Amino acid sequence: MLTASRLVLARKRRRMTLSSLAKKSGISVRSLTAFENGHKTPAPETLKSLAEALELPFSFFIAPEVEEIAVDSVSFRALSKMSALDRDSARGAGRIVVEINEWIEQRFGLPEPDVPTLPHLSPEEAAERVRALWGLGEAPIPNMVHLLESHGVRVFSLAADCSSVDAFSFRWKRTRPFIVLNLEKSGERGRFDAAHELGHLVLHSEHRIPHGPEAEQEAQQFASAFLMPKSGILAQQLYSADARRILSAKRKWQVAAVALAYRLKDLELLSEWNYRTAVKQLSSMGYRSGEPGGITRESSQLLGKVFATLRSQKIPVARMAEDINLTVEELNLHVFGLVPTVVDGGELISAPIRPALRVVGS
Ligand SMILES: [Zn+2]
Repeated sequence: MLTASRLVLARKRRRMTLSSLAKKSGISVRSLTAFENGHKTPAPETLKSLAEALELPFSFFIAPEVEEIAVDSVSFRALSKMSALDRDSARGAGRIVVEINEWIEQRFGLPEPDVPTLPHLSPEEAAERVRALWGLGEAPIPNMVHLLESHGVRVFSLAADCSSVDAFSFRWKRTRPFIVLNLEKSGERGRFDAAHELGHLVLHSEHRIPHGPEAEQEAQQFASAFLMPKSGILAQQLYSADARRILSAKRKWQVAAVALAYRLKDLELLSEWNYRTAVKQLSSMGYRSGEPGGITRESSQLLGKVFATLRSQKIPVARMAEDINLTVEELNLHVFGLVPTVVDGGELISAPIRPALRVVGS
């Protein structure tokens, strides 16, 4: 009755070792190992205790097999510094997000993936190519999350219990691109993270492993070029700009002040000395740790529409969670901050939603 792969997924998602799960559930490591290997199946009572210890519904554990997301296909930053428990918990969160997405895809017509793989281009060239393919010209991008969603990327929120891990991305079954964003940062940094993960999807998801210092550097360069296109920046006359001019120019691109300063140096509009002076000034004004007076976090149009439709059809979120074999709490963790709603106790308490992305069906 137990689906072994689901027990493994749940344990990893909860950041538990076999012995910590044994301690919490009162079931021996030996039995747990046998359950996970599929050599033994637990009695219903035992499975119930496991479900309680892992804080997931009983139905989660008897649903069909789940395939893990391969470690090599995920764009984790600083993978070598990350503990296996943290990495596996985030990977488990990614796998749960895939389940949530499947539920949504069965009910809504969503944009098909349209993210090119350009492994042979430099980050700068790749960013320009994607902008051209998507018809963005050299204009600022009003909303990164909406842009990604309209090109078939599924964007979810990094569960708060994974916050030691940064944003990450992967292509599920080598096709469907996913980006999981850390929503604890400023709006500007969130946009940069989203563009950084797009860089991994474009540059690294085909032939190359999307982590390691070189891949990180390339994703940073991609994000910088994608959000602040060369021709657009050159047209702004920012040669030798000081902190004050950088602060006024960054509003146009909705990027962090320090990110714009870096881009200006990269495009040789700032000398090394000018750059360091500007960053020092910006730091003293609080623009290193945060983004004073910055923009609000971007939200998801796609998820917003899904939850609005549920509400209009009077389908409680608890039903959706039940269908996906999750608790409302677990479901909430993966959409939190991206939908202008608070999901609480199965009820939706909502703020007005501004639907714009066409989500067909329902
Ligand atoms: Zn990265």
